[in-house]
Amino acid sequence: MSSFLRLGAGLAALLVTACGAPAPAAPAGPQPIRAPSPSRVTAEAAERVGADELGRVPILMYHRIVAEPRSVYDRGPADFRAELERLAAEDYIPVTTSDLVTGKLDLPAGTHPVVLTFDDGDPSVFALTPEGEPAPGTAVRILLDVAVAHPRFRPVASFYVNENPFGGDERALRWLSEHHFEIGNHTAQHTNLRRAGESAATAAIAEGDALIRRAVPGYQPATLALPYGARPRRGELALRGPGYSYGGVLLVGAGPAPSPCSPEFDPAAIPRIRSQGAGKEAEYGSAHWLDELGSAAGRRYTADGDPATVSYPRSGPEPAPSCASVSLAY
Ligand SMILES: [Zn+2]
Repeated sequence: MSSFLRLGAGLAALLVTACGAPAPAAPAGPQPIRAPSPSRVTAEAAERVGADELGRVPILMYHRIVAEPRSVYDRGPADFRAELERLAAEDYIPVTTSDLVTGKLDLPAGTHPVVLTFDDGDPSVFALTPEGEPAPGTAVRILLDVAVAHPRFRPVASFYVNENPFGGDERALRWLSEHHFEIGNHTAQHTNLRRAGESAATAAIAEGDALIRRAVPGYQPATLALPYGARPRRGELALRGPGYSYGGVLLVGAGPAPSPCSPEFDPAAIPRIRSQGAGKEAEYGSAHWLDELGSAAGRRYTADGDPATVSYPRSGPEPAPSCASVSLAY
């Protein structure tokens, strides 16, 4: 092998490693020239960007995007776009719920994760034109447009669906999964899992899981949003039961979520923030919480730029035991 080719192989391995995928096994025979390993974050670099990967993450909750909002769960298209523009301007980068709960947060140094969640599969959130494009005015179309204007702002989100989502268009869930959106379970019939008995609750979750797997062959739902935020009497039944297993279960309210590396993180009860501007109960809404998280005392999750290390300020709490071995205090 020429030295040029050997160098090329080393660079290819470096690039794959830098993107977070496992590096290919070393080939037999002469070893390639070793490319420098990807730089790991130092305490100085983490401090410079104020990294805090034990900080809090806003998981925003949306239902309908309609021109004439009728309840606190609705938002108008202009308000929705303005909220996304605000997030982009404040260095937030969307990730899915599944990315968050599995700790797959590969974000540039100094940026913050945000999760955009949409419950109930409303056609105002996503619909396809006859040509198979996201319909104008839908939340997905607006999100894609904002991402074009802000290239670092990833157009990803998590959709929690019941039966016949998005007006029953059979193409919808397949399109979302093919475009890196997450499809999560919200039970087939929007069942109140607290009122239901134990076996009815697990059956309702399993039915919702199965309908997603039927709609998108090969897809495995990884998270659940509780209808009405109502937990089963035994909370762990929302995480695991006959026919389903999840990395995270979302509540309806009412504040930022702990980092998955925080000792406060409970995968069976992850809080969300209702998207909301001023008005009734605004103290639970996103405008209030984004102000708070952006303040000096906000304890917001800020990435260190190194997906393999969990950086945090020594002044704060210690990481959960599961993250201790990869943590870096400054
Ligand atoms: Zn719902």
